[in-house]
Amino acid sequence: MRALTPNGTAGGAAKGAVVAMPKRTRFANTRSGFDYLIVGAGFAGSVLAERLATELDKRVLLIDRRPHIAGNAYDHYNDAGLLIHRYGPHIFHTNSTQVVNYLSRFTKWRPYEHKVLAHVDEQLVPIPINLTTLEKLYGLKLTPEDAEAFLKSKAEPVAEIRTSEDVVVGAVGRELYEKFFRGYTRKQWGLDPSELDKSVTSRVPTRTNTDDRYFGDSFQSMPLHGYTRMFENMLDHPNIKVMLNTDFEEVRTEVQYDKLIYSGPIDEYFDFRFGKLPYRSLQFRHETVEQENFQPVAVVNYPSEDVAYTRITEYKHLTGQVNPRTSLTYEYPAADGDPYYPVPRPENAELYRKYQALADATPDVTFVGRLGTYRYYNMDQVVGQALALFKRIEETEKSESGLARAARSMARVNGTVRAEAAQGAGD
Ligand code: FAD
Ligand code: UDP
Repeated sequence: MRALTPNGTAGGAAKGAVVAMPKRTRFANTRSGFDYLIVGAGFAGSVLAERLATELDKRVLLIDRRPHIAGNAYDHYNDAGLLIHRYGPHIFHTNSTQVVNYLSRFTKWRPYEHKVLAHVDEQLVPIPINLTTLEKLYGLKLTPEDAEAFLKSKAEPVAEIRTSEDVVVGAVGRELYEKFFRGYTRKQWGLDPSELDKSVTSRVPTRTNTDDRYFGDSFQSMPLHGYTRMFENMLDHPNIKVMLNTDFEEVRTEVQYDKLIYSGPIDEYFDFRFGKLPYRSLQFRHETVEQENFQPVAVVNYPSEDVAYTRITEYKHLTGQVNPRTSLTYEYPAADGDPYYPVPRPENAELYRKYQALADATPDVTFVGRLGTYRYYNMDQVVGQALALFKRIEETEKSESGLARAARSMARVNGTVRAEAAQGAGD
């Protein structure tokens, strides 16, 4: 990976690098410009940059408006020497061996199974709701069969599960819904669960055994040296140039490229032609405290609407680092700010479909990623999406170069025919 400075040399990124560029050609490398301009150096953009450079020998310019690579997965060592995630806790989990095999080229892994507790009724209890949660909240001693019967007795029949309220009320009843989900969701999304698609709270299962892992996936591990290091390894290729602090608007007419891959918000690309697609934002409060440990697990959720934040993360649990101090992040949901979450509800899906139709009618631009395709995707899903997109690009590139080869050989044949004809005419 080489980061371009204003004069195009390798080095750190500079703010306003591109504004100072008077001519398009200054960015062009020795052949004629770049094959691909990729907007966004998160998972979507970086996987595609790596694949295009490594497999197809394409010259790629990867830009990001932020001062770093890795998108929302960016992590770094803070002043206390602790590895923290700038944009909130990113826990890697997947059922896809294809995704694990791919990422394992760029990182080793630290096995880690994510545990979350919720602050409910003045105590910390496991979420997802499991047998232990019920025992602690209701002072019971239960077998898994008892727990199942208990939840069945609490669950409300829901004719058609449509919303995020339906999912939970239909599984555990209104009381547990109100304790664990209603307040958290209203804070997190600024909407009542009844106004959100069922896919949102369906992300959190209900269990009747003592399994207290947040995820059930077959692979659960953290990149051994962090996400940013993994991205650095991914982008370490002579065909990939990285420009940070660079917005697409600043370079769209300054850089020569054949094709564009865009992993920013799709509505922004089209100048909000049909109106803004709603995204939910967050404010992060990062803090280091003078104590070795702060909470028993990496994440504690605070569902009560009386508390402004939704959760606190303590990073040591993810990394296993030993340090006399510990670093935390508080998440405060917000309407304005960086677009972190697409908001899954029918009217937004409909608006997105309009943008998608525009995208389909814009063949030289490909949209990808959580913001580019307006999907509430986890990291592994974005990697899977990018790998699938690469396959399609590879097929197109191969058939295009096959056509070009055929055209060239046809031209050669025609040339020979013409030359022979000319020779014949002269004979
Ligand atoms: P991003 O990471 O958002 O990257 C897009 C990049 O494009 C950004 O860096 C942005 O600056 C850049 N960009 C946008 N527009 C422009 C422009 N016009 N010009 C230049 N650059 C531009 N997933 C999990 O699997 N596990 C988790 O535990 C998890 N926790 C999460 C916690 C939080 C708080 C959030 C917000 C997300 C979490 N995710 C988690 C989801 C994960 O962050 C995403 O799936 C993943 O990062 C998406 O990658 P991406 O490349 O699509 O988008
Ligand atoms: N949720 C909740 N209470 C919890 C945990 C989750 O209400 O204790 C709901 C909430 O709406 C949240 C959604 O379930 O946005 C998905 O949770 P997840 O932990 O997957 O959210 P993310 O990590 O993506 O922010």
